[in-house]
Amino acid sequence: MATKKNNTIKLKFDSARNLAPAPESKSAAKIDPQYDLFINGKFEKPSGKKYFPTINPATEEKLSMIAEANTADVNKAVVAARTAYDKTWKKMPAAERAKYIYRIARMIQERAREFAIIETLDGGKPIRESRDFDVPTAANHFFYYAGWADKLEYAFPNRRTEPLGVAGQIIPWNFPLLMAAWKIAPALACGNTVVLKPAENTSLTALKLAEIIQEADLPPGVVNIITGAGATGAAIVNHADVNKIAFTGSTEVGKIIQRAIAGTNKKATLELGGKAANIIFDDAPLDQAVEGVINGIFFNQGHVCCAGSRLYVQESVFKEVVRKLKDRLETLIVGDPMDKNTDIGAINSKAQLDIINKYIRIGQQEGAEMYQPSCAVPKKGFFCKPTIFTNVAQSNRIAQEEIFGPVLAIQSFRTDDEVIEKANNTPYGLSAGVWTDKGSKIFNLTTKLRAGVVWANTFNKFDPTSPFGGYKESGYGREGGLQGLSAYVNIIENR
Ligand code: NAP
Ligand code: MG
Repeated sequence: MATKKNNTIKLKFDSARNLAPAPESKSAAKIDPQYDLFINGKFEKPSGKKYFPTINPATEEKLSMIAEANTADVNKAVVAARTAYDKTWKKMPAAERAKYIYRIARMIQERAREFAIIETLDGGKPIRESRDFDVPTAANHFFYYAGWADKLEYAFPNRRTEPLGVAGQIIPWNFPLLMAAWKIAPALACGNTVVLKPAENTSLTALKLAEIIQEADLPPGVVNIITGAGATGAAIVNHADVNKIAFTGSTEVGKIIQRAIAGTNKKATLELGGKAANIIFDDAPLDQAVEGVINGIFFNQGHVCCAGSRLYVQESVFKEVVRKLKDRLETLIVGDPMDKNTDIGAINSKAQLDIINKYIRIGQQEGAEMYQPSCAVPKKGFFCKPTIFTNVAQSNRIAQEEIFGPVLAIQSFRTDDEVIEKANNTPYGLSAGVWTDKGSKIFNLTTKLRAGVVWANTFNKFDPTSPFGGYKESGYGREGGLQGLSAYVNIIENR
């Protein structure tokens, strides 16, 4: 029964969208004050005794101290991985390997809430995304590749495969747990062992994954997770006993890695930057397309290599689409990533926010017209309003260079050929999107756009069964699906 007190409760509404704050509780997440290196199944202190802080980019508060691995630690991890490969993992029946991988998948699901909270606290992405996308998709990758472990003969019919050996895996800060899953799951399924380095800004969920790997009783040394900055990554790349490098990150570091492994027999897959074009034709369902564009660039603060950071709109609907986009921007909530209503969380670091703001200034100096919604942005922490530019020229830097933030460059086009030419006119080729009612247009564009993934009437859809990877300076090799398996085996043609 309602009491007088209940009747007088005043709901505190968020002025942006009239929604009451709905913060996720931090209590389900246990973050230790300090984390060591996970080598040979145990957590070990770094030999240089150095630690660096990891912060919450939404509050600038320190969350924990993370061990910095030097070359001696990297060597220890590689030796552990080599020993585990030779003595245990390579010899284990594939169906047994699969059981471990399934176990990891199930344990991620069991601890999904904790993973989501830590991912959001450490990286700044909205809890809705960590909860509904990052963590379940990471678990799905382990499930999917566990299924392949004892079926490689069907994946590669009439050919024999053997694992590569020790895989050195280096990942960025935008999808920390998911990128670890993308890399570890297929490597293990094919019988390789792993030394993985997360990005220095976002090591926590990889270290939580190390706890799961320990609890899952994976043989020591099969997965080693070592933390540190670029120098630690370089030590993995340069280690003579690493057989494969799997790298996701910037094109700049990708080129350094290519140079470092030239002349060695190390295999590599490189997933690098992007400057994806989203293309809206005048026959497209416009509201759906606008929603897809919003999702494509503002999802995860634009910290997505395949983000739809360029938009091409057919001239006859250009004004209408831009108006709809501006209207939709007004409704987005920028702020506390732990709030379940938040659409755009914190930029991952001060350094990344500076890069984004630099490009926003460049866009204005280049003569493009900027629009940002009127929403409030928290004073503390690293935040950026969603930003769109019109009056953009194809040669402008904001249309050519990767910004890796919530910034969209919009241009118009008249014909199919013109938009294909413009969409292909960047050094990158990771992804693209086509919005149209006509199947024939979709087929025409998907065959001519030089991008690894082309979405039609949707954007940023991921599934473990689909291969993902780039053309041109977006890298080479594929992750996900069957193609993701072939990146971790030597194929011997005659059985
Ligand atoms: P980054 O600087 O290239 O870093 C990626 C990883 O490499 C981090 O773990 C980094 O360590 C490490 N690293 C840095 N220098 C290294 C070196 N010389 N040798 C070996 N490893 C080194 O990229 P980021 O700034 O973290 O991430 C943003 C970039 O990644 C964007 O350009 C984005 O497009 C790209 N990205 C691509 C994909 C894809 O799938 N294609 C996915 C996500 C991101 P520290 O961070 O600890 O310094
Ligand atoms: Mg952090």
